[in-house]
Order: sequence, then structure tokens, then C-alpha cells
Amino acid sequence: MKICRFIADDKVYFGSIDGEMVKVIGSPFCKSDAAGDGHYKLSDVRLLAPVKPGKILCIGLNYRDHAQECGYDIPKTPVVFMKPSTAVIGPGENIVYPAMSNRVDYEAELAVVIGRRCHAVSEEEASSCILGYTCANDVSARDLQPHDGQWIISKGFDTFLPLGPYIDTDFNPACGHIECRLNGAVKQSSDIRHLIFSPYFLVSYLSTVMTLEPGDVIITGTPGGISGMQRGDSVEVEIEGLGVLENHVV
Ligand code: MG
Repeated sequence: MKICRFIADDKVYFGSIDGEMVKVIGSPFCKSDAAGDGHYKLSDVRLLAPVKPGKILCIGLNYRDHAQECGYDIPKTPVVFMKPSTAVIGPGENIVYPAMSNRVDYEAELAVVIGRRCHAVSEEEASSCILGYTCANDVSARDLQPHDGQWIISKGFDTFLPLGPYIDTDFNPACGHIECRLNGAVKQSSDIRHLIFSPYFLVSYLSTVMTLEPGDVIITGTPGGISGMQRGDSVEVEIEGLGVLENHVV
């Protein structure tokens, strides 16, 4: 199932996308919510980020070529940081270039969306805790990062986490092409099978530290090919099977 959040008739709904149509459904994160009813044409609604995360856990240096291009050793345990929920924007929304920075990068990433509360689960149990997967852009003020011990400042600005366009509950995270395009030119091109720490390992590892809850998001790291964006640019993250997440820089 492809799950989205959208606005129609001035109301926010969860929906299930089927071809050109979207069917209203209840919240996939709160089973007690009303099931919902109604259908809309996808072209008549505005998609939002498909989840409003509680926690956003982020993995750094999780592809060898990206660790190398940044001059870091290949990590032996996951490099973890967090983004605030206020960084999240949806498909088509603007990434705002902050005045504090002179270099703002895209980072195409696979995002894991947690579907049920879990603590200290094994890798084998992890898939049952995941609702599905979506595309993410871990926007980063690269020039601020070296002086920013926990990367909270350089990666935490409002609008620095585009998510979407939908959560696919049937996606297989073992492999799939991941790409970032800037004004149509391919800048990052890799496959999620090159992740050093897999989504299932990350859910197991992180849930051993903190309870993961429905709607929490883990973004799994970016492949090599980072570079800066300029105001006016269009940036697209595409993961095979998960659609295209497009945003503009203003
Ligand atoms: Mg990243």
C-alpha cells in the first residue's frame, strides 16, 4: 500500500494511493482513529509529508563512498544524530536557504517509518515494527558542519528535511536504485544495497537505546556525490519503487 497525507477541502487526511486516485483511510499510526471515507483525484489534492515524526534519527556516513569523500574512516558502529520535527516539509514545499550558511547541500536518503512501538527488538523482529519507507532529503549546511559537534545546527534548520511523496508498506529495503538530481542533472546515483548498516540492523540497534514509537523516522544516510544547491534550484530525490520527492530552494 502507498500511504500519503494530503489536504483536500481544507482538511488533512491520510490516504491510500491507487493509480490516479487517493482513497481516504484512518491514521496508520493510531489504529483507534476513524477509518475514513471518500475518494479524491490525486491531481486535485496537495500532498503533505506522509508522516509527522516524533523522533527523527539520522545515520551519518552509512555509504563507503560518502564517508571517503568527507574524509572519514568507515564507521564500525552507526554515526547517529537527530533532526527536529520542525525541519520536516512535504513534496513541492520550499527549502529555505538560511542566511547563516554559504553552502547548503542535498543528501538523498532512504527513510524508515516506524509503525509500532518497540524496544530492544532483534534484526529478525525489526521488519514487523516498520510501517514502510519513503524518500528523504537530509539538507545540510555543509560549511557550518565542521564547527558543529553534534550536527544539530548544520542539519536542523526549518525546511531541512523534505519527506515523501508517500510511504510504501510493501517496499523491500534489500536493494533499490537511489538518485539525486539537481535541476535535472544526476548528482548522486547508487543502490541502497550499499548501506553499511541495514534498516533492520538500525531499528534493532536504536531500539536498544530508546523506545521507538509509531511515526518515528530513521533516515539511513546518503551515498557519495554531495554538492551545494543555490536559490532557485530544483532538487529531486528518487528511490526505485518510492517515487520522486521534488523541492525548490528559495
Ligand atoms: Mg545524511
